[in-house]
Amino acid sequence: MEPRKKPSKGISRRNFVKTAAAAAVGTTALATGCRQDVGGPNIISNKTFEWRMVLFWGKGSKVLGEGAQNLATWIETMSQGRLRIKVYGANERVPAGGVFEAVGEGDAELGHCASYYWAGDVKAAQFFAAVPFGMNAQQMNAWIYHGGGQALWDEVYEPFGVMGMPAGNTGVQMGGWFNREINAIGDFKGLKMRMPGIGGAVLNRAGAEVVNKPPGELYSSLETGLIDATEWVGPYHDYLMGFHEVAKYYYYPGWHEPGTVLELIVNRKAFEALPADLQEIIRTAAFRANLSVLSELEAKNNDHLKILVGQHKVDLRRFPDEVLRQLKIYSRETIDKLCSGDPQSRKVYDAFSSFQKTVNAWGAVSERAMHELDDI
Ligand code: CA
Repeated sequence: MEPRKKPSKGISRRNFVKTAAAAAVGTTALATGCRQDVGGPNIISNKTFEWRMVLFWGKGSKVLGEGAQNLATWIETMSQGRLRIKVYGANERVPAGGVFEAVGEGDAELGHCASYYWAGDVKAAQFFAAVPFGMNAQQMNAWIYHGGGQALWDEVYEPFGVMGMPAGNTGVQMGGWFNREINAIGDFKGLKMRMPGIGGAVLNRAGAEVVNKPPGELYSSLETGLIDATEWVGPYHDYLMGFHEVAKYYYYPGWHEPGTVLELIVNRKAFEALPADLQEIIRTAAFRANLSVLSELEAKNNDHLKILVGQHKVDLRRFPDEVLRQLKIYSRETIDKLCSGDPQSRKVYDAFSSFQKTVNAWGAVSERAMHELDDI
């Protein structure tokens, strides 16, 4: 642990006047870097830290890579340069799929990704990213921040030497890009589709062949017919990926990802070795990233849906009710199977679904009731 200056037991009048005066010109004092001038018990250490952040995404990718870079910049700015973070895009330091392990082993102190990618390491991780027919962004935040979700997430990640926290959310995703029509549940049989997480297992149950490829290979895989379909995020990001150039149908809703949490994973030992103020700066920056990514996607999705449909003549389709009904049944079966073979998943999912029931009851008289007013 960093040595901490002993906090003063009380504020003498002299110190109070000095602190108040410094606060009045605080911005000047901070701007000139004279932290000693500000004084007070909250200044802990001037030691600097050089950290590395590895991404599941390309470093320059809009919203995702940029969001991670923003996070690093905010941490550096808020810490006045005491915590500097070098950001590595996918494959620059470790492959996309190696982020969890790299952070656990201390090869990087931070990672930006989504927890369903680590189902191979720990199955229960998936519930902190997205659950088919599960909770939306607002509800996921409510569960994680104020409904006991964070404590469970800490418990699941503890053996791996990492901790996770929300650092972005996609909101409701789209159902995906298809080169085959989906008119009945049987149309999923033999369909080669990219879909991560529990949603992928549900598609398997529906007879699809689920292929998980890194983001950079999805466009060419659709183009060459290596896959028949892929889901990604939503209209804005999907537009940037160019999928409308290589797929015929754009289906909604994203039943498999109603509010996917992007995570900041942190090496626990490195985090615990930081002074308390830097720890809070990381948490605060992650909070900001969480809201910022969601807000940017929400703001831009509709504009881009219009561009896709209006300018690029994308064939926008809604999954038929009967297909969604059957996918919901398969989702329940898939999650039940996952939980029956893994007590930790059972524990996390029980908490998740119990929270979802409660929050949905509130949603019925709040969000949903307001949406219904659109058609009044
Ligand atoms: Ca997705």
